Amino acid sequence: MEILEELKAFRCKDIPYSRVLSSMCTIPHPIAVKAHVEFINTNLGDPAIFRGSAELEREVIGMIGKLLHHSNAKGYVTSGGTEANVQAVRAFRNLKKVERPNVVVPESAHFSFDKAGDVLRVEVRKAKLDDEFKVDVGDVERLIDENTVGIVGIAGTTALGQIDPIEELSKLALEKDVFLHVDSAFGGFVIPFLDLDVKFDFELEGVSSVTVDPHKMGLATIPAGCILFRDSSFLKALVVETPYLITEEQFSLTGTRPATGVASTYAVMKLLGFEGFRRIVRDCIKATRYLVEKMNDLGFEPVIEPVMNVVCFKCEKAFEIRNELYKRGWVISAIRNPRALRFVVMPHANFNVIDEFIEELKKVLRKF
Ligand code: PLP
Repeated sequence: MEILEELKAFRCKDIPYSRVLSSMCTIPHPIAVKAHVEFINTNLGDPAIFRGSAELEREVIGMIGKLLHHSNAKGYVTSGGTEANVQAVRAFRNLKKVERPNVVVPESAHFSFDKAGDVLRVEVRKAKLDDEFKVDVGDVERLIDENTVGIVGIAGTTALGQIDPIEELSKLALEKDVFLHVDSAFGGFVIPFLDLDVKFDFELEGVSSVTVDPHKMGLATIPAGCILFRDSSFLKALVVETPYLITEEQFSLTGTRPATGVASTYAVMKLLGFEGFRRIVRDCIKATRYLVEKMNDLGFEPVIEPVMNVVCFKCEKAFEIRNELYKRGWVISAIRNPRALRFVVMPHANFNVIDEFIEELKKVLRKF
């Protein structure tokens, strides 16, 4: 019992979600926790043993594929968006087989692409953004050359929640004969439930792969990311032989990996259905609008009108304010370009949390 008390003492030092307005993770749905516990000692690295778990993973891929207009997509549940993005770049590189491969990503791309470039020895070229912080498709085109294996569009950027013009990127990818990866790690469980007239997924012919993370807006337990490919040729390009196992090959990046994320994703999706997610997204958008109102009252202006439940406010003293709030137990983030305070309004960030935050912010602002 003493050990558990010790653990509790460490855990108590973690900042509770009710004080976190910067993270793309949240408190998982209660059914996700139950499913997680049920699958606690599973290992999908050995699917011949965990064949029920492996079957469940195929079901989940089908369910998320359906959400993204391609029930027959091929992929697996990753440790998160980073692994999914690395695997997309790896598949493109292995399929294209050029000597000095490069990928073109927006300047707004998540830093996981820098990791991908480093481990895979693929040059990562960064395309400029336009005034709305969407990737400039002309600049993407300019950066493509004979060594380009793929281009990347972001559907829900980490900083601003902006959606790149994926339709145009799709056309460009087809025209230039390069693969297109869409990183919707965050947006994948948001955009389908907004009343937006944008196409960002397999509906577009040029899209080869999509990242979507159930452990963000999918309310699954960590770790649960997902990489989906248009067909099995991409998975084949990732295969290594596994001589000690009954199954002969493996396409995942990690070896031993839990089915906890698979089970928790399945449970939440089955329970909520698309309608349930629509309600959750609608509530997050309402809370985002409420935050915008309150911040407007304090004189802050959003960098862009929020597209989803991510919003930044122009602020020259963003870093100083973030640090002061952190000292007082609140976590928001600050971005450099443009200098701004950044918020992610996850399901735990309800109206009460926002009210409490605004009161604290008022106190902080008196110091500046
Ligand atoms: N892609 C995007 C757009 C993200 O916002 C993030 C994380 O915030 C990632 C990828 C990386 O995901 P993870 O931290 O689960 O590896």
